[in-house]
Amino acid sequence: MSDQKIENLIILGGGPAGYTAALYAARANLEPLVIEGFQWGGQLQNTTDVENYPGYPEGIMGPEMMNEFRAQAERFGTRFITDDADRVELSDGGVQRVFIGDDEYAAKALILSMGAEPRRLGIPGELELSGRGVSTCGVCDGAFFKNEKVAVIGGGDSAMEDSIFISKYASELTSVHRRDEYRASKIMRDRAGEQDNITFKTPFVPEEFIAGDDGKLRAVTLRNADTNETEELEVGGAFVAIGHIPRSELVADQVGVDEDGYVLTEGKSTRTNVEGVFAVGDLVDHTYRQAVTAAGTGCMGALDAEWYLRDTPPSPEAHWMTGGEPVEVAPNPTA
Ligand code: NAP
Repeated sequence: MSDQKIENLIILGGGPAGYTAALYAARANLEPLVIEGFQWGGQLQNTTDVENYPGYPEGIMGPEMMNEFRAQAERFGTRFITDDADRVELSDGGVQRVFIGDDEYAAKALILSMGAEPRRLGIPGELELSGRGVSTCGVCDGAFFKNEKVAVIGGGDSAMEDSIFISKYASELTSVHRRDEYRASKIMRDRAGEQDNITFKTPFVPEEFIAGDDGKLRAVTLRNADTNETEELEVGGAFVAIGHIPRSELVADQVGVDEDGYVLTEGKSTRTNVEGVFAVGDLVDHTYRQAVTAAGTGCMGALDAEWYLRDTPPSPEAHWMTGGEPVEVAPNPTA
């Protein structure tokens, strides 16, 4: 392998975080290689109108937005491999290796940006009606259900937060949870309870999403977990808010992850516990999970990687601590 090309930087995952990291790294002349996955674009590929990304006053379709992110990174010399990585070999301060079948790609630095995926119920109609009434993102899609009846499924903080948000638009909102006890914090459950148009339905297990004649969601079938009796709840929208699964499976045994599988980073940086390996976007984010926040951390990942590659690591806290000296970034030759 002595004649193997060692890249400066490989970015693993092509969503808002990965493409933003690529844009910044490419403009810093690092010639990044993005292994973007066969289904590049991440969760936004499954989203219709995006109305909350700044800079698009008329909104933009999710796939189109990802196309634009990608094109912007490409303009400055980013290269892409549109395939899924099978295996990763991380090395503390050494060469990072990514494998696609028998092909090996090596780099001095690696940014992990594989994202997360919403946990699904796995019931009939869920995938078929996705984007036609069934959604996994209340913040993204809530406003499309103005004056409609909707259901939010789940008993955690996400479900409560989504319910509070969506209740501003919906006429009636039914919060459906499979147990009588809630996992959500009391304050979030109470806040949801204060909304006049939210009713709580427990213990009910969703069994099927049913389409109307127009091909859009008409109802969800619910089974009472105590009696096993089923009933139909008529809704135009249903939000599945039962958690997310970070896509850390390729690296979870080589880099620090928390109990839910999210990659751990140091302080407010994107550095993992493996030197030269950085993590950004929904792969590290329990909480915000928005395209704009993912893009922001993608930028941070590229800057952290750039600093690492220049072998002039800044004081670990300097770039975020109040009173810390700002870190000098080399002049960008393309600016
Ligand atoms: P979560 O806490 O894991 O809750 C998931 C919920 O979905 C649980 O109520 C669970 O039911 C239910 N569920 C899981 N699988 C299901 C299935 N197959 N069918 C029906 N229901 C199912 O996930 P989360 O709400 O996304 O929260 C994740 C983390 O982010 C938490 O630490 C949370 O506190 C945090 N968070 C905080 C805020 C905030 O503070 N503003 C907002 C959002 C999230 P069971 O309870 O029966 O298991």
